[in-house]
Amino acid sequence: MVIVQKFGGTSVGDLERIQNVANRVSKTLKEGHKVVVVVSAMSGETNKLIAYAEHYTSTPQRSEVDMLLSSGERVTAALLSIALNAIGHPAVSMSGRKAGIVTDNVHTKARIESIDPSAMRAQLDAGNVVVVAGFQGVSEEGNVTTLGRGGSDLSAVALAGALEADLCEIYTDVDGIYTTDPRIEPKAKKMDKISYDEMLELASLGAKVLQNRSVELAKKLNVNLVTRSSFSEAEGTLITKEENIMEKPLVSGIALDKNQARVSLSGVVDRPGIASDIFTSLADASVNIDMIIQTLGHDGKTNLDFTVPKTELLDAQNVVEQFIGKGEISEASYDENICKVSIVGVGMKSHTGVAAKAFQTMARENINIMMISTSEIKVSMVVAEKYSELSVRSLHSAYSLDQ
Ligand code: ADP
Ligand code: ASP
Ligand code: MG
Repeated sequence: MVIVQKFGGTSVGDLERIQNVANRVSKTLKEGHKVVVVVSAMSGETNKLIAYAEHYTSTPQRSEVDMLLSSGERVTAALLSIALNAIGHPAVSMSGRKAGIVTDNVHTKARIESIDPSAMRAQLDAGNVVVVAGFQGVSEEGNVTTLGRGGSDLSAVALAGALEADLCEIYTDVDGIYTTDPRIEPKAKKMDKISYDEMLELASLGAKVLQNRSVELAKKLNVNLVTRSSFSEAEGTLITKEENIMEKPLVSGIALDKNQARVSLSGVVDRPGIASDIFTSLADASVNIDMIIQTLGHDGKTNLDFTVPKTELLDAQNVVEQFIGKGEISEASYDENICKVSIVGVGMKSHTGVAAKAFQTMARENINIMMISTSEIKVSMVVAEKYSELSVRSLHSAYSLDQ
């Protein structure tokens, strides 16, 4: 079999742990498989490099940021390759470019456009382990790009797809996907299986255990994806098609996103096209909008509330100020002390009362809900950040996920 194994930041956090990874890869090799390893930077490294760049300016050139950040993954790729060779397994490391990963030119959040796996194939055929630096690619113009935070997961899934690998294993510091973040709720339970769609919602709604784009791609390419621990032999969680899962709980998991901020606009001129103007300008500034609430207009004015990632609040603020300057918005306020808590489950499709139970749970805890949004398989609520953990734990027990 061809197996792609991805090791996250904690798993390669120091030299000892990289040795441990080499030993794990060795085990897979001895079972007769061909292995492509994808590695993250050592934990904390990417944040450290970002802080270095921001020492000089709060807006470093994104192309330079990519040049800088991509170095973190290269360090671990080279070290792991050296460690593998040292224990008798011939290995070569590759940057994203060498691995054939071509992306668009959107620095710090590039999208993969194509992968040419021939260099990796040649090395595998020659009997080598291929160790690829995750999180990075190269644009048509030859510039180094990175794939957005947590992007090594995406590298792994994309390479598994391009190599038509039999399995893509994501090794991390927890032994699988839990009903909620086990750091917040120790009573969280590990799932044996979860559907692509539920995992995609959980990941998009804040569960950072898998990057959301990696799940999206795994679904599209039908990649057999398993999340497991690099520190134990425990069986992980299979992320698979919904029809492969017999038991469908009403609610499968709870996600928490603390990287949200709320923008509240009042006195917005109530004319056709205003929403289009505001949100087009925000999109042009690369601001990702999540929930939107517009209230009924009065006297030609309306109110508009929406959420954006905290990291994009400054960009959003700049756009809003322009509309205030033009007299199309009277006032704006910004709240960074919020969070989004979500319940996810395919069972919601066919059952009523799931959302009501979430609202009752919050009411019982006296937690005020500021915004609500729903889809077929999720209910999200914005609440004050100080209630984040309480909300997660209360919902977790309300849907009996700890049983
Ligand atoms: P890596 O560095 O290996 O990529 P991450 O830190 O990105 O690892 O993701 C693993 C972390 O995700 C866990 O330590 C855990 O705290 C967090 N997490 C959030 N939600 C969940 C969940 N539902 N199941 C498992 N882990 C989760
Ligand atoms: N090192 C990158 C990050 O911290 C990519 C990754 O770990 O997946 O976001
Ligand atoms: Mg990660």
